[in-house]
Amino acid sequence: MQRVISVLFFLTVPLGSYAQDAKLKLDAAFDAIEPKVIGWRRDFHEHPELSNREFRTAEKVAEHLKSLDLDSVETNVAHTGVVGTLKGAKPGPTVALRADMDALPVKERTGLPFASKAKGEFNGQEVDVMHACGHDTHTAILMGAAEILAANRDRLAGTVKFFFQPAEEGAPVGEEGGAALMIDEGVLDGPDAPQAIFGLHAWPVPAGTINYRPGSFMAASDTLYITVRGRQAHGSAPWMGVDPIFVSSQIVTALQGIPGRQLDITKGPAVITIGSMHGGVRGNIIPDEVEMMGTIRTFDEGVREELHAKLKRTVTLIAEAGGAEATVAIDSYSPVTGNDPELLRQMMPTLAWAAGEDNVVEHPLITGAEDFAHFQQRIPGLYLMLGINKNGVGRGQAPSNHSPRFFGNEDALIVGVRTMVGLALDYAAQTSD
Ligand SMILES: [Zn+2]
Ligand SMILES: [Zn+2]
Repeated sequence: MQRVISVLFFLTVPLGSYAQDAKLKLDAAFDAIEPKVIGWRRDFHEHPELSNREFRTAEKVAEHLKSLDLDSVETNVAHTGVVGTLKGAKPGPTVALRADMDALPVKERTGLPFASKAKGEFNGQEVDVMHACGHDTHTAILMGAAEILAANRDRLAGTVKFFFQPAEEGAPVGEEGGAALMIDEGVLDGPDAPQAIFGLHAWPVPAGTINYRPGSFMAASDTLYITVRGRQAHGSAPWMGVDPIFVSSQIVTALQGIPGRQLDITKGPAVITIGSMHGGVRGNIIPDEVEMMGTIRTFDEGVREELHAKLKRTVTLIAEAGGAEATVAIDSYSPVTGNDPELLRQMMPTLAWAAGEDNVVEHPLITGAEDFAHFQQRIPGLYLMLGINKNGVGRGQAPSNHSPRFFGNEDALIVGVRTMVGLALDYAAQTSD
């Protein structure tokens, strides 16, 4: 009863004043959920699963959501995803809360008692699997938030959708997956279509902080494929052929001149990296062909398009100048992930309530990417970084995401639960009067 009264109060007092009262009244619920969230997280951490293979994880999530008596629990969304729907007693907006569930082909070296010993298959090879990006924490946090929101549904205005997403790290070669596939399957459509979406990510910054950036936050990411075709010849007589290795080296050098000389950098930085380059079999044969792969990161859609066009021009004309021929293909992984400035301003008091005012901090741009961006192409959203460093460890002092030593401080998980619960309740309260 205590909890019901508190939520009623939470939902009807004006913006800015309810947060403190809600904090006092919901504290017992957060205290009770904390050990469960930590337990779920350890279980997921010990049993990580690769993208589009999150079978066990999805089963645990679905089992939990079904135990909460939600209005619906859909499984096999975008292969292994789970979507829960919780309708409040009062009419109001629909908000989506998102957690990603997949792990990575990384051999864990944290030394934790619940460290992963799991194996998986990645691109035809057996690999060790680890939750090296913290998606175990995201899944556990959202399960906890769902339990608290379900217990308070009597006074909830509107609908909350829980998106447990597969394959954020990218579907295996030849498969579709992730946020884009969930959207294709209609998670943002229908009578209860979400009007806003919230997501968070475990991040190596001080524990318990919520880190944001208005506007662009994480980069758009595109994969670059370049093939340079020359003409094979004896290494002693290069004039008899066309050397694609020489031409490729000119291309690699020229690519770095594109952000520096050809783009308006006042609109945001850009990164072009060639991470793979293959051609030739021995020292005295000029090969026919060189293949390169790379990644492109940008923070503005206009810059992104311009970079793609100028890159194609630069690559093909350098090849032509050397008598070779180049083809360029660019695959999009995700657009820019960010924070809708108006929505961020609106939800700032909630973040201060969830983490404490001093723990809500602006963060620099991140050149990493997130497929959460696909949801934000359709509806406004917030994407926040939850600090999970060991206590006392600052920004830049802990192993990064995807490291075999990536560490998640369990003391910070409850801040994530508070953030998700607070955002769902407050967004509904503010938009349903
Ligand atoms: Zn990752
Ligand atoms: Zn991640």
